[in-house]
Amino acid sequence: MLTLIWIVAVLIGFVTLAYRNVSGAVWAGGIVVALAASWIAHALPLALNVVLTGAFIVLAIPLLIPSLRRKLMSDAVLGAFRKVMPPMSQTEREALEAGTVWWDGELFSGRPDWRRLLATPEPTLTPEEQRFLDVETAELCAMASDWEAQNVYKDLPPHVWQFVKDKGFLGMIIPKEYGGLGFSGFGHSQVITKLSTRSGTAAVTVMVPNSLGPGELLLHYGTEEQKRHYLPRLAKGLEIPCFALTNPNAGSDAAAIPDYAFVRWGEHEGKRVLGLSVTWDKRYITLGPVATLLGLAFRVYDPDKLLGDKDDLGITCALIPTSHPGVEIGRRHMPLNAVFQNGPNSGRDVFIPMEWVIGGQAMIGKGWRMLMECLAAGRGISLPASNTGMSILAVRAVGGYARVRTQFKTAIGKFEGVEEPLARMGGNLYMMDAARRLTAAAIDLGEKPSVVSAIAKYHITERARQTINDGMDVIGGKGICMGPANFLGGAYMQHPVAITVEGANILTRSLIIFGQGAIRCHPYVLRELQATRETDRQKASVAFDEALFGHVRFTLANFARTLVTGLTGSHFVGVPADVAPATRRYYQQLTRFSAVLAFLADVAMAVLGGNLKRKEKLSARLGDILSLLFLCSATLKRFEAEGRQAADAPLMHWAIWDAMYKAQVAIEGVISNFPGRVLPGLLWRIVFPLGRPYEVPADDLGHQVAQLLIQPSATRDRLTTPMHVGREEDDPVGLIERALTATVEAEPVEAKLKAAMRDGRLDGRMPPDTGVEAQAERAVAAGVIDRDEARTLIVQRGLVARVIRVDDFPADLGASLLQPAIDAGAAATPTAPARTAERARATRELV
Ligand SMILES: Cc1cc2nc3c(=O)[nH]c(=O)nc-3n(C[C@H](O)[C@H](O)[C@H](O)COP(=O)(O)OP(=O)(O)OC[C@H]3O[C@@H](n4cnc5c(N)ncnc54)[C@H](O)[C@@H]3O)c2cc1C
Repeated sequence: MLTLIWIVAVLIGFVTLAYRNVSGAVWAGGIVVALAASWIAHALPLALNVVLTGAFIVLAIPLLIPSLRRKLMSDAVLGAFRKVMPPMSQTEREALEAGTVWWDGELFSGRPDWRRLLATPEPTLTPEEQRFLDVETAELCAMASDWEAQNVYKDLPPHVWQFVKDKGFLGMIIPKEYGGLGFSGFGHSQVITKLSTRSGTAAVTVMVPNSLGPGELLLHYGTEEQKRHYLPRLAKGLEIPCFALTNPNAGSDAAAIPDYAFVRWGEHEGKRVLGLSVTWDKRYITLGPVATLLGLAFRVYDPDKLLGDKDDLGITCALIPTSHPGVEIGRRHMPLNAVFQNGPNSGRDVFIPMEWVIGGQAMIGKGWRMLMECLAAGRGISLPASNTGMSILAVRAVGGYARVRTQFKTAIGKFEGVEEPLARMGGNLYMMDAARRLTAAAIDLGEKPSVVSAIAKYHITERARQTINDGMDVIGGKGICMGPANFLGGAYMQHPVAITVEGANILTRSLIIFGQGAIRCHPYVLRELQATRETDRQKASVAFDEALFGHVRFTLANFARTLVTGLTGSHFVGVPADVAPATRRYYQQLTRFSAVLAFLADVAMAVLGGNLKRKEKLSARLGDILSLLFLCSATLKRFEAEGRQAADAPLMHWAIWDAMYKAQVAIEGVISNFPGRVLPGLLWRIVFPLGRPYEVPADDLGHQVAQLLIQPSATRDRLTTPMHVGREEDDPVGLIERALTATVEAEPVEAKLKAAMRDGRLDGRMPPDTGVEAQAERAVAAGVIDRDEARTLIVQRGLVARVIRVDDFPADLGASLLQPAIDAGAAATPTAPARTAERARATRELV
């Protein structure tokens, strides 16, 4: 009995010390106490006491004396580590080490400090940014029509391009001292979000110069002379920039670009200067066909050793005016009918002077590091903003449509089957927008959150895809037939672009989020890796020893936390006192899952070692856990920041339940795919000792969310800010808004009609050609409704008829109308503007 009590006490003591992540000395003290108790109480047989005490002395002395510990243990592990570590190229290292660790590091700690998250200042707009959003951005939204851009101009119309340039849209990130707008990350994000609720073409056109490209690179790495020359011109749209990295043979593996330059003497502006002879072949380059300034990435070689003794100097970025002789640019791709400018460019042995290298000659070979460092800001703002914008459009317009469109005499949004996608749309949007804001807030705090921006890029674009697909399903044929009345088909077609660019999504999920996250966010792995590369033996030994033993304690701590929070349902996990009571359990469960993530990540690294890099499915699932924890954090933060709006709570609850359920599924996927049977079985019992805590969001909760989408309310407005609603008579979204208000007003009138028909006060049998006016007149005559109600009904039916209308065209879809333009092109080769004007006339007639 005594032995049993001793064993239980030792186990409890072990888990407690591990849970608290105590130092080596405290561990030693704990063991001494346990052994002393055993000796005094005779808890164990004498022989066993002697063996255990002896083993403790033999192990504890070297463990507690650092120099001995290093000699006997850490140095041997370091040597083994160096042998099994997969080789890492410089570009891989630069990619891994780029950017900063922020809240993602807390999520990897097993014990996130929620106060730190809640204390992060909410991003806000300056009065100037707010005005720009309300005035210039709204005006641009009103001017930009994707239908017109796609079918008339195959581009933004010239007057819209001019407006974009004149108002400074292309220089939002350029500081005021260089003539730009000097907007914050959040200001920039709000503008792109709003534009995306209206026109993908306008949004991409504005987004690209403000994302990773010449502007951003010049700001961080340009020489003062380059900045003073180019930044004011870029800010005012006097230069249109593009940035060309992708080569036909190097897309995702961009560091492998075969584009090259040789260091050479050559002729520039009549002088013999040292420069680069560049050869390149790029494709998919956004704004390329209209660019005046080509940002170009290529690898520099110095075979004649003109700059030193190295041959391969590495990836380099330069700015080349597209008017420069030898630059082939102007042809276009057609990215899914989106018509923003995008195309290939190339050059062969094009000589450029050294001063065209961004940052000058000193920055030759630093291009990859520059790109990786700047990627976080661009990727964290542009695609999260544009995809949240498209989703805002989908949620607002589809929600309204689902209320005004009736089938089986019922608004389609009230059918349970339709409620399901509507709930997904609402919950996902709440979470996406929360993540967009939190990422922008981090960037405005000066972070370059590389892992967080990859999470935001992947998860917001994936949720936008789901949201737009759901929206398309809800609106049926209305979304499929293209024309000016179709408000969602454009987003549906163009959306895969977001999935593919700035790190294609499969790659981002399988390789980047956890691959980079595990190394950067883990408190010890990067330090261990750096120690393996340290050439000074003594420094390497000390650094590795500290990291290794910190790592061991960290793993033990997360094992203990995983087990204890699992056994106690995480009920005793501390939560800041001032969070909304309804969300307390979420913080506790998130802390639990954070410990699970850290523990499983360590198990994965220990079991698979360097092979983990190739186990992309496992890496993807571990990345999903990290990402979902981030998305939930953002969602809880949003709920607090918006004043815990009770009416919005269903959106928050749905989003968290859905994400936590998905995190749980990812955890299951990780555990069940570890090799063998013993390890998965053991891990299962440690991680889920009392079963799985999460289920899919309840149907009732989904019902509440769907209800929020199909009626006007402050919640719907908050959820869809900063939506652009067109004021023009035929604007399809404006029409839905008016029809929705009218429908909500008309529903009681409809109810009166139905009741009167049911109890025989009104004869419902009317000839099929009876108009709404005559129906209303009859109801008035029968005393069922009054004249105002009749008018409400007539207005509502009229608006709904316009909302559900889809465009139709002549049988040849207008080919004959375009014939004069085609003939003119064949006969007289008219200038491009003349052809455009002819096509514009024909297309307008068509519409
Ligand atoms: C409309 C558009 C605009 C663009 N704008 C620009 C621009 O302005 N400038 C520029 O330089 N580039 C631009 N790009 C290029 C873009 O960045 C690339 O398309 C992207 O990097 C993917 O390369 P890829 O298309 O060659 O696909 P591939 O590299 O062939 O990839 C195909 C698939 O394989 C997956 N994959 C590849 N490697 C792995 C891996 N190790 N693990 C898991 N999955 C993997 C990818 O995720 C993808 O799903 C643009 C592309 C498009 C379509």
